Amino acid sequence: MGLQAREIAAGVFYIETGKGIMRSNVYFVRSGSASSWVLIDSASAHCGPLIREAAEALFGAKTPPTAILLTHVHPDHAGSALELAQGWNCPVYVHPDELPFATADSSNFFATYHNYTTAAGRWTPPPLDKWLILPLVRAMPGRKREVMLAGSSLKGVVRAFEPGKGLPGLPEWDYIPTPGHTPGHVAFFRPADRVLIAGDALLTINLNSAKGFLLWSLSRNNPRVSGPPWYTTWCWQAAKESVGRIARLEPRILAGGHGLPMTGPSTACDVRAFAGRFR
Ligand SMILES: [Zn+2]
Repeated sequence: MGLQAREIAAGVFYIETGKGIMRSNVYFVRSGSASSWVLIDSASAHCGPLIREAAEALFGAKTPPTAILLTHVHPDHAGSALELAQGWNCPVYVHPDELPFATADSSNFFATYHNYTTAAGRWTPPPLDKWLILPLVRAMPGRKREVMLAGSSLKGVVRAFEPGKGLPGLPEWDYIPTPGHTPGHVAFFRPADRVLIAGDALLTINLNSAKGFLLWSLSRNNPRVSGPPWYTTWCWQAAKESVGRIARLEPRILAGGHGLPMTGPSTACDVRAFAGRFR
């Protein structure tokens, strides 16, 4: 039995997919009054069937999305993007600064992670990548590594947003650059009712405390504004500036990549208070 998507704002639905620490939220967003829609984030690998089933219940079996938009290309957000994009025959979009990670394969994987530079400067991989993921990938037998990286590369289906051109498939939404958790992280914002789909720039569950992490992995949580997980965040200074940028939008609904979406009149206030104390 599939998951039924919950509506958190007009035309904005979500489901939580994946298991254990790979659990993440996926958003289905209707475009205006039209029957077209867009998928935001794609959970971890092998969640395609569940996401497709929820989408069909919302929009019908013959209405694929116009696009898949990714907040960032971590495996718990981009894991099923390739499978879904191929099945739906639709493009995947990311911020230009995230594109190299989306298309990396065995020819440039380590170079991409170790020498990453954007207009904001040079980036250093976060603790989990540096101490665990990259060494593990390096230790894999060559052929196995090639197959694994080819299977996760979005080459062929992914494109970058064009800055200043509006968001593909969602004309009433803006994308907000929120670098820090990853170099090209973005959030998605609908100014008309101030709905924010924040990815991992700002969460509603505290993955940085043992208790928060435990409650979350047991699938229990009360929404509470929290920063991105430290072990997968590239740059704290940039992440902090991005939280400030989000606070200035005064979101009425905060829908993060993990945790229950937060709604209600105190949301903007809670986000501002968090931005003030975030270190
Ligand atoms: Zn992430």
